[in-house]
Amino acid sequence: MKTPLPWQPGDTARLKKPHACGCTDWLVQRMGMDVRLQCLGCGKQLLLKRLDFEKMVRSRLPATDENTKIELF
Ligand SMILES: [Zn+2]
Repeated sequence: MKTPLPWQPGDTARLKKPHACGCTDWLVQRMGMDVRLQCLGCGKQLLLKRLDFEKMVRSRLPATDENTKIELF
């Protein structure tokens, strides 16, 4: 059983598949059963199921740390 990742609003999520605009980084706006993301490239908002989100995400760029501490999944 995988424990849920400690995602926080304000984190940046890097997804495996780029968005239509070519950007792979999304700002986490809301985290719960559903996840609200905003594309950092074009500003489009996206609502995903938590499980789908965790399948799509490649790495987490925490808001509080420098980008030196990227967690890879
Ligand atoms: Zn975009």
